[in-house]
Amino acid sequence: MYGKGTVSINAENIMPVIKQWLYSDKDIFVREMVSNGCDAVSKHKRLVATGEAQGDDAPYRIDVVVDKAAGTLSFTDNGIGMTAEEVEKYIAQVAFSGANDFIAKYAGEQGGGDDAKIIGHFGLGFYSAFMVSDKVEIDTKSYTYAPAARWMSVDGLEYDLSLSERTARGTTITLHIDEEDREFLDLWKVRETLEKHCAFMPVPIFLSEVKQPKEVKEGEETKEEDKPAEPEQINDTNPLWMRRPADCTDEDYRAFYRKVFHDFEEPLFWIHLNAEYPFNLKGILYFPKIRNEFTASEGVVKLYNNQVFVADNIKEVIPEFLLLLKGVIDCPDLPLNVSRSFLQNDGYVKKMSAYITRKVADRLVSEFNNRREDYQRYWDDIHPFVKYGCIRDEKFYERVKKALLFKTTADEYLTLEEYRNRNCDGEECTVYYASDAKRQAQMIKLYTDQGKDVVLLDTLIDANYVTFLEYAEREEKISFKRVDAAADGLTEEGEVSEDERKQLEAEFREALDDKELDVQLKPFKTDDMIAMITVDEQNRRFSEMSARWGGKDLNLPEKRTLVLNAKHPLVGWLKTAEDGDVRKAVCCQVADLAEMARQPLVADRMVEFLKRSNELLTMIVAQ
Ligand code: ADP
Ligand code: MG
Repeated sequence: MYGKGTVSINAENIMPVIKQWLYSDKDIFVREMVSNGCDAVSKHKRLVATGEAQGDDAPYRIDVVVDKAAGTLSFTDNGIGMTAEEVEKYIAQVAFSGANDFIAKYAGEQGGGDDAKIIGHFGLGFYSAFMVSDKVEIDTKSYTYAPAARWMSVDGLEYDLSLSERTARGTTITLHIDEEDREFLDLWKVRETLEKHCAFMPVPIFLSEVKQPKEVKEGEETKEEDKPAEPEQINDTNPLWMRRPADCTDEDYRAFYRKVFHDFEEPLFWIHLNAEYPFNLKGILYFPKIRNEFTASEGVVKLYNNQVFVADNIKEVIPEFLLLLKGVIDCPDLPLNVSRSFLQNDGYVKKMSAYITRKVADRLVSEFNNRREDYQRYWDDIHPFVKYGCIRDEKFYERVKKALLFKTTADEYLTLEEYRNRNCDGEECTVYYASDAKRQAQMIKLYTDQGKDVVLLDTLIDANYVTFLEYAEREEKISFKRVDAAADGLTEEGEVSEDERKQLEAEFREALDDKELDVQLKPFKTDDMIAMITVDEQNRRFSEMSARWGGKDLNLPEKRTLVLNAKHPLVGWLKTAEDGDVRKAVCCQVADLAEMARQPLVADRMVEFLKRSNELLTMIVAQ
């Protein structure tokens, strides 16, 4: 057993694959070394608990020590340790039991990135040490009376196994860092890596550096900076998500949020997931302040496997729209070390993802039911996320439906049902909305003057959202119309002669040189308006969407209608006035004023309008 050995016949294939595979994510070797130390500690704890091993008072710990001068980085734990036989078995043989599978499955693929996690799955975690080392040593003493053992290997293929002098239970893995990876001899680099991967591991991790002894001249005192630094504990072994929600205060949640996400804005609220059945799943999801849609993509959900960081934003486990949140999820039972395509097709993963979605929806509904005022204040921040979730996941929509709000132009917040009760009485209901409160102020006022609510739908997601709602609520006969989409809400019933309408249509078409223009003649509820321009809702939505998604301007002609107020004296005058320049000028002026109520005139049309306005004023004064 002692003496020289060769790791495995197939091993020659493996080292180059490991090196190439992990190239882009090299620093995970730190995670592998430390998590092996944690495993060793928990194995020992278990043996002590069952009486199979003798316990002692020494607290469990892992020490990471950087020795720049020696060129080494070492990991020491006081866990279970290994006998020489175990080193041979676990390090030299068993480690490669999955090797053939590994090679067969992945050797041909491009390695790197997130998939680097698979390394742990195949029991190759320990071998990641060779990615950054010229030589790796193991010095270990088992909790049994077996003698301590020393293992040493330069390439991971051939090794030396001998007796060791070590007396303390546990294991020290010493990596002789190679030339290319000397950054791992920098204390800050190691700290950063530990903070990334090991911040919440369950055993205290201490980082320290071996200082070069300085020559101390007689009579001179040691300077402060030359004294060896106290090892600092890197991790929090009992992270908030592992505690019982009843034991956590609001301040705990806020402090944890600041620490983990470096976000100094307060989170709006949070959900503490704490399930043992049907899944073993713990975590905290925060709703961050999202001021505009473009920063919304900055959320991050960190995934842990038994307090070991796995990766950020794994879409297969956490529904995509929830990635706008910030949080941590710990799933000890997930096969996180396998490839993503496996996760995508795994029924367990799907159920868990559905469970998380349900919890989020339930929380929103309970905020709405129990703290509506607060919830309304949050709504401005969270609505893009909630809307996106509804569109992406019908089940989520069904669950949060009752808690969906519409903000009105008068800063009230209404559910769809409340809007309906206040504004509609027939079988059908039209929800009037504005996409730009400033520009559409005049049109909004036409509705609010009649006591109707106008809601604000002014974010990018809203175009898709209303289309989604109309479809989802088709049985409720809800439709959404922008305030400039139709005149039905603003006009009265009344007979208007078709001949007069046709005549005016011809008139306006000629004056405006627009052969497509539709003209309608209707009595308005208000007297002080001559005309308005409406643009067909469906038509407008379609061209907006194709412009956004297709990138190309399809140049769909807007379906515009000029609606004239049949009650207005000027319209009466137009019906009877003689043909000529004045009549033409009035037609143009009426159409321009109607257009201006919904959007500013541009370029030539503006120039024309100003010129004509001057002429008309001059004419009045000259009379
Ligand atoms: P895994 O951790 O998935 O089993 P590794 O390659 O990381 O695979 O480790 C292989 C084996 O080596 C472990 O299962 C364990 O038996 C042994 N081992 C590695 N590091 C230690 C350690 N620090 N203390 C005790 N045993 C260890
Ligand atoms: Mg391991």
